[in-house]
Formats: sequence, C-alpha cells, structure tokens
Amino acid sequence: MRIEKAKRIDQIPPYLFAEIDKKKEEMRKKGMDLIDLGIGDPDLPTPQPIIERMKKASEDPGNHHYPSYEGMIEFRTAAAQWFERRFGVTFDPKTEVLTLIGSKEGIAHIPLAFVNPGDYVLVPSPGYPVYRVATLLAGGTPYFLPLLKENGFLPKLSEIPKEVAERSKLLFINYPNNPTSAIAEKPFFEEVVAFARRYRIIVCHDAAYSELAFDGYRPLSFFEVEGAKEVGIEFHSLSKTFNMTGWRIGFAVGNSEIVSGLGRVKTNIDSGLFQAIQEAGIEALNRYDTPIPNIIRIYEGRRDVMVKGLREMGLEVDMPRATFYLWIRVPQGYTSAQFATLLIEKAGIVATPGNGFGEAGEGYIRMTLTVDESRLQEAIERLKKINF
Ligand SMILES: *Cc1c(COP(=O)(O)O)cnc(C)c1O
Repeated sequence: MRIEKAKRIDQIPPYLFAEIDKKKEEMRKKGMDLIDLGIGDPDLPTPQPIIERMKKASEDPGNHHYPSYEGMIEFRTAAAQWFERRFGVTFDPKTEVLTLIGSKEGIAHIPLAFVNPGDYVLVPSPGYPVYRVATLLAGGTPYFLPLLKENGFLPKLSEIPKEVAERSKLLFINYPNNPTSAIAEKPFFEEVVAFARRYRIIVCHDAAYSELAFDGYRPLSFFEVEGAKEVGIEFHSLSKTFNMTGWRIGFAVGNSEIVSGLGRVKTNIDSGLFQAIQEAGIEALNRYDTPIPNIIRIYEGRRDVMVKGLREMGLEVDMPRATFYLWIRVPQGYTSAQFATLLIEKAGIVATPGNGFGEAGEGYIRMTLTVDESRLQEAIERLKKINF
C-alpha cells in the first residue's frame, strides 16, 4: 500500500537544516572533532534545588494522576507572582494564566484556536520556525515580515499592505529575538498595540529569552505597554531561564479570552503537565530572582570571547544584549549555506545557515553560546586559520 501524507504536512517546507546535519555526520565519520555552535539548548545543568523538589514531588501519589488541563493553580499563581515582581503587571491566575508543556506547545497550538482557512498570520522572517509551521497546520497563510538590520531587526508594520492586515488574525513577535539576538524597546511595543487594535489582530509575543540578558539589561514584557492586555498573549518558558529545556514547562499570560481560546484547544489535545514538573517550576519561579546572575556571567564571558574573535577576523556581528545567539553576516561572495559548509569542512565548526529561519535570513549564519569558553577560544583559533 502506498502511504500518502496529508496535504497539511506535505506542504510544510522541507527541513532546511537537513543538509548541515548530513555534513555533520559526514565530518564526524571522517574523525573531525566538531564544535557544535548550532544548538539552541543550554549546556549547563538545572539548578539543584529544582531537581530536589522534583524528586520529592514525584514520590507523592497525589501527583500520579491526570493533572488539570489548565495547570495547577499553585503553579499559575507562582507564575503570576513572578510576573508581577519582574514586570510590575498583574494577571489573574485563574483566568489569565495557562500552564504549557513548554512554550513551543502553546505557540504551536494557538493558531488552531483563532485562525480560519484563508486568514493571514503575520510571521517574522528570519524567525523561530514554529510560527510558520503552526500557521500552515491550522490552514492559515503566513505573511512574512522581514527583519532587517537597518530596522534593528524589528518588523516594519507600516509596510504591511492594508488588504493583508485586514485579513490577518495573529501577529507573532519575539524579543529578545531568536535568531538575530535583537531586542525591542517600548516605542515598538506601543506601535504593535496600535496596529493590533486598528486591525483587530491578536499579538502573540514569544518571550522565551526575557531572562537571558546581559550587562544589567532587563528586557521588557509586551504587557508593560498600555493596552497590551486588550490584544495580546505572551509566551514564557522556563527552558532557557533555568536550564530546563528537557523538562518541558512554560506558561502563557494574557487577555482572558485569548488564554481561554488556547486552553480550549489544549483541553482537546493534551491532558496537562505532570504535577511534579509543575512543582519544580514553582520552586524555580519562587526561589530565584531572574535573570540568574551566575548563568548570565557565564554567557557574558562566552559572548565577549566570540564577538572579539569574530570581529578580529573581519566578520560583522552585533554585540548581543540578550539571548545566546550571534547573528553573523557572511563574507562577500558566499551564501549562508556555502559559508556554513566552509566552516564545518575547514574548521569543524557547526553554525546554522540563516536562511533556515526564513528567506530574509539569507546572508547570515547563527552561532550559539551553549559551549564552554575554552572550546569557544578553540573555535576562534580554528576559524582564524581559514581564508574567506
Ligand atoms: C527555545 C525557544 C522556544 C521554546 O521553548 P520551550 O522549551 O518550548 O519552552 C520558544 N521560542 C523561541 C524563540 C525559542 O528559541
């Protein structure tokens, strides 16, 4: 029997990192010592008190049953309290906060709640691939907003055609940004609120990196801007903040109708998040003042080594004020893919071609700071020996 996939999944653009994965495998087989700067996953462990809380919570038989769909009220309360301490904005844990099985889960599901076939979803390019894919799975049409250096990697909302804006249901934004490491300030968020009100568009702000910022900088929440609660939802993740990517825990806060729309989808698909993990999440949110200084200092050290080294070899890269990504312009005469291939073949350095995050990412590669400082020194030494 010939197994045919649904059009829904068939239409999803081919996996753009497949080529680099193949190359990695090939170089590894040749015995090349690879330094993988392609991974967006912290190398550091989860803090011990969070692990201890999980151990204890997993032994409690009360936690062995189906959890509630929307999340334990204790976790949602801890999330709301953390949010108020951090950003000075209050949310009702009962109606305005939702536990997520990682923020990716919420981002992937939200179009199912609000997008009808034929609707546009405004998606940044380059951007986290889930925005585009989730839109397609819901039958929507992504309309890409290029993030360009000359605009500080912020989308130009004024350049969106009126007909598109009028037929748009959701707008995805993400600051601090993956992959460009750009940040957004208040005037941009104010512009987003005005635009969303005017066209009645739901703003989905992905704040996965709000607690990974350097030199004392503290990223804003979208909700620090007046009127945001009328139009938006914000996705938060414990993954990068507390080195908990494998645990799968995040939450959404926002307008109660938007939150409950997402909740309705989840009720029909998943059955909530293991309560012991939610207890670990409570421990994380209650115990730590974020950003956690020890973690930030490590990334700052790595960032400084890389930015200095890359600039010394003539590469153009902005000094990130947040996230663990470096968004590097490829030298003249190379495409993103060609340059990434050169780096892996000649130096064993794995970087991600920028076009994998969307067409407007062409001309860049992304490197991550999730490798220890001595290995990054080694990476710089190897790169300095290549001619490009
Ligand atoms: C890592 C990441 C997420 C997802 O994090 P979860 O582990 O699912 O909470 C979401 N958005 C961006 C931009 C990310 O880089």
